[in-house]
Amino acid sequence: MIIVLKPNTKQEDVSRVEHLVKRRGLDTHIVVGQEMTIIGCIGDTTKIDAKLFEVDASVDKVMHVQEPYKLANRAFHPEDSVVDVSGVKVGRGHLALIAGPCSVESAQQVLEIAAAAKQSGANLLRGGAFKPRTSPYSFQGMGLDGLKILCEAKEATGLPIVTELMSPEHLDIFNEKVDLIQIGARNMQNFDLLKQLGQLDRPILLKRGLNATYEEWIMSAEYIMASGNENVILCERGIRTFETYTRNTLDLQSIPVLRKLTHLPVVVDPSHAGGKWWLVEPMAKAAIAAGADGLMVEVHNDPESALCDGAQSLKPQKYDELLREVTQIAKVIGKKI
Ligand code: PEP
Ligand code: MN
Repeated sequence: MIIVLKPNTKQEDVSRVEHLVKRRGLDTHIVVGQEMTIIGCIGDTTKIDAKLFEVDASVDKVMHVQEPYKLANRAFHPEDSVVDVSGVKVGRGHLALIAGPCSVESAQQVLEIAAAAKQSGANLLRGGAFKPRTSPYSFQGMGLDGLKILCEAKEATGLPIVTELMSPEHLDIFNEKVDLIQIGARNMQNFDLLKQLGQLDRPILLKRGLNATYEEWIMSAEYIMASGNENVILCERGIRTFETYTRNTLDLQSIPVLRKLTHLPVVVDPSHAGGKWWLVEPMAKAAIAAGADGLMVEVHNDPESALCDGAQSLKPQKYDELLREVTQIAKVIGKKI
């Protein structure tokens, strides 16, 4: 953090600001120029609010030179993190291939999709039991019955399960039964929920908020990590832009940017990004080529009758073709499948 003092600040005022900085446990390095004086703050400034120093009448402005996150920061952890999801490694070259329906609708539906997805090479099974829907009149998910079905599908296929947690009421049961706990876009900044995830043993899949900046998104991961759970996977799922033709706009740039800023694995969900099944394949391939650590793809055996997101779901046959192509790209860029 750098504190720029107003021009011609007197020595006694410089000393007062320096004292304020030292009181916060930081060291200082003072540079006296011809017209202005700058105080460099040395130490961990992640927990210090820059605005605090702006209160002093001699301070012109305060600039952060360090990111406000520490545990998620690549600077303090140069190696890629690997997150272990019940034996499936994600990150440092290992791809998460998450597939399944938007919502759990019946045991037969999930079992059929799970078996086909596994056959194609998926290593994790998704399915929403608790659904965050824009309308209260839309299908809200099967709830705990849906979770039970996912557990049956895990039993049948051996695929660890990924499903969204919406309420703190279900923390314990999710911690017991869900291999990778998804936090959806709409809850990315539910800070109370994020803090509680820190108490769990399960890894977390943190989706990007509808209009979250990279820093806001990483700060949400930092919440979970600072509360005690460092097993976080980030998921880019498209952001709101002025374009209305697609559901959202897939931010492919987020992959290299996040890989530069953090050591956490970054997975891409092309289904919720484009909102159209035919956009899934090109965007999934682009994401892997750009360095993503995996894909989350909605797959449905009967998308025409799906209770949620049928238009963006791939049929099992199309998912199979996609994974064959993804495998080729992964080989070329040295990722492990
Ligand atoms: C989902 O993956 O089922 C979902 C609701 O996604 P998002 O939170 O990204 O909208
Ligand atoms: Mn969906």
